[in-house]
Amino acid sequence: MTEEQQIIHQQERPDKPEEACGVFGIYAPEQDVARLTYFGLYALQHRGQESAGIATFESQKVHLHKDMGLVSQVFNESILDELPGNIGVGHTRYSTTGSSHKANAQPAVVETRLGKIALAHNGNLVNTLDLRSQLLEDNHNLVTTTDSEMIALAIAQEINKDKNLDWLEGTVRALKRCKGAFSLVIGTPEGVMGTRDPNGIRPLVIGTLPGNPVRYVLASETCGLDIIGAEFLRDVQPGELVWITEEGLASYHWNKQEQRKLCIFEMIYFARPDSMMHNETLYSYRLRLGKQLAAESAVDADFVFGVPDSGIPAAIGFSEASGIPYSEGLIKNRYVGRTFIQPTQSMRESGIRMKLNPLKDVLDGKRVVIVDDSIVRGTTSRKLVKALRDAGVSEVHMRISSPPVTHPCFYGIDTDTQDQLIAATKSVEEISEQIGVDSLAYLSWEGMLKATQEDTNTFCSACFTGDYPVPVPDRLKASKLMLEETAV
Ligand code: SF4
Repeated sequence: MTEEQQIIHQQERPDKPEEACGVFGIYAPEQDVARLTYFGLYALQHRGQESAGIATFESQKVHLHKDMGLVSQVFNESILDELPGNIGVGHTRYSTTGSSHKANAQPAVVETRLGKIALAHNGNLVNTLDLRSQLLEDNHNLVTTTDSEMIALAIAQEINKDKNLDWLEGTVRALKRCKGAFSLVIGTPEGVMGTRDPNGIRPLVIGTLPGNPVRYVLASETCGLDIIGAEFLRDVQPGELVWITEEGLASYHWNKQEQRKLCIFEMIYFARPDSMMHNETLYSYRLRLGKQLAAESAVDADFVFGVPDSGIPAAIGFSEASGIPYSEGLIKNRYVGRTFIQPTQSMRESGIRMKLNPLKDVLDGKRVVIVDDSIVRGTTSRKLVKALRDAGVSEVHMRISSPPVTHPCFYGIDTDTQDQLIAATKSVEEISEQIGVDSLAYLSWEGMLKATQEDTNTFCSACFTGDYPVPVPDRLKASKLMLEETAV
């Protein structure tokens, strides 16, 4: 990106935490794995829109295509025809480490003593600097700046230095050197591996394609299985590695100390509402968040609506629990993507209407409850409230179906530095004043966890509490915890 494009890109960034990546893997002899991987990535597009890539294995040979852009922009029929093989690994990326350019697109392909590997990573390591210096000591040429490439190189390093190690043993040794969040899909000439860090911070699921023998699929979310007709089998467990070859699926627990800490934000916002977690769709969880929110912060109003699309399930839940009718209030332009074309100054001032447009006659003179899943910087909320006031609402009550975001994420979600998080520096009353609402209420931390109907200790919620399940080294913390750094 040029400097100018980067500035515009920054202005265009949504006022939301941004997902890191989507990963996909498939072992399916005699199937068009490139096409199946393409559609898997197509369903996972919401997890990263900056670059996309597919690697396929045709025996020892790896075919790779990756580029900047959406899945549908990066691939076409003739490119997919150039990707033959039995094994596919795919990736959609939003950059959380390393700047956004083509060299950092994944899968990362690395040569080892046993053949090539293609690795796709979702998450963020917290010991990248240590890993980098270990690799540089060994004269490894770091082509890109991503932690994903470093994981691939660490696997190669382990396999190359001990001639007795096979794919599995070499990979496990490398995984034990990694700290942080990682859900990985790793293609090899023999098969495909899927693994999660010992806390299982990022999701990864296994599916099967019908046929004999059974063919296996790995995807960040179940929506990546549904689109190709694969059936959900189970989650890859925290600290587990599944190894899928012509002999079927084998499972290894490479870390017995696992302590499940799934990112709660996956459930609140990131993952698609039709994806399944804990045996239900996330739509159902988000509906309960809305019900809990209504129980905690009731208000008198004419109708309730959600900020499209992510606020809608919680708004419906709020309506069901409060008895306040649900209605559409904002219409989303579904065809809008990121643009490098600058809007005019007056368009920029109206800001939000590029993507969301209020229904004026519906809103005029009404007291409304507007439900959103989170507030990060607060800039979008302010523009949104102004647009509603301009449309004639008499009262705006904002309800947020998660607690205030007060801490940055170090595990693969871009939540900005702490000084940019509005709730890190302002009280709820101050935020309410800044965004111009008549009332503002967030869901409680307890309410958010209670609505999971799961063991509340099995989630990471560090961006609401600062209680990081994997210790974050001070030098990394200092890069994002601007408030604490200043306070020292
Ligand atoms: S800090 Fe927040 S966004 Fe990051 S993994 Fe934990 S819950 Fe998810």
